[in-house]
Amino acid sequence: MEAFSYVRATDAAGAVGVGDAKFIAGGTTLLDLMKLDVERPAKLVDINRIGLDTIERLPDGRLKIGALVRNSDLAHHEVVKAEYAVLSEALLQGASAQLRNMATTGGNLLQRTRCMYFRNTAMACNKRAPGTGCSAIEGDNRSLAIFGTSKDCIATNPSDMNVALTALEAVVTIQGKDGSREVKIGDFFLLPGTTPHVETVVAPGELITHVTLPAARKGSKQVYLKLRDRASYEFALASAAVVAEVEGGKISYLRVALGGVGTKPWRSHEAEAALLHHAAESAAFHRAAAMAVRDARPQSENGFKVELTKRCIAHALKLATVNV
Ligand code: SF4
Repeated sequence: MEAFSYVRATDAAGAVGVGDAKFIAGGTTLLDLMKLDVERPAKLVDINRIGLDTIERLPDGRLKIGALVRNSDLAHHEVVKAEYAVLSEALLQGASAQLRNMATTGGNLLQRTRCMYFRNTAMACNKRAPGTGCSAIEGDNRSLAIFGTSKDCIATNPSDMNVALTALEAVVTIQGKDGSREVKIGDFFLLPGTTPHVETVVAPGELITHVTLPAARKGSKQVYLKLRDRASYEFALASAAVVAEVEGGKISYLRVALGGVGTKPWRSHEAEAALLHHAAESAAFHRAAAMAVRDARPQSENGFKVELTKRCIAHALKLATVNV
């Protein structure tokens, strides 16, 4: 690990715009990557004492979540459990209890990929060292993406929380030196293209301050289904977050987002369009799942993810529409 300076911020305004600095909160990703020499910040700005650690119901019914709210606190919050169950379920299926106690909402949004070559400085990786190549395309890519890939990077976004936030259509508030801006979650993550090292719209020196969820849809049923190699402390091979409403046996509202398969949390507009206003029945779920993977581009070792994703979507849709 290289030497770095350390300062502790006391408020958000004091934290932003500190030049070549990285913010540290829970540190559950950053410290690992610094030890591996993947991240080499000249300066760490500790934001653990700037507040932003509360969950607040807004007058219009939206839920405002501070960026420093720990994943455990968010998952177990009474309103989140009751009205945003897909988010609670996704958080509780991620990492371990110890990690969830440290990891924050803002940090989870910026979680880095688990591609093994990204974390190994002896290997070529365009995301870690732009222009060096991608070791995964001809290498071990079993766990990597089938959606949103480019010739320069095929790494998956590893977060479960981000998939749920995508299905819930969250809005992220970002503060810079010149003020705050709001970004829809669908616009927050960037495809790798030719610049896989640029993963989100957050610019250097900017700070995520909040995530806001739309007012809960009272009639909806929400499900997060995660498929992985082992039952705990493992990243998704495929996952599906579903928010569904059924009226008179037909689907009247649907949001579907996928995890473990995209270079960013993957909203499936195809599955949504295929099912909206159609009967909530098994054959329709399987048709929608087939539509969802129509544009999948599997790599040499992860062709199995196409079928796995289809089954994950179909089963999540079934779970989300039973007894609605
Ligand atoms: Fe690096 Fe992306 Fe290639 Fe992995 S898939 S080696 S993160 S460029």
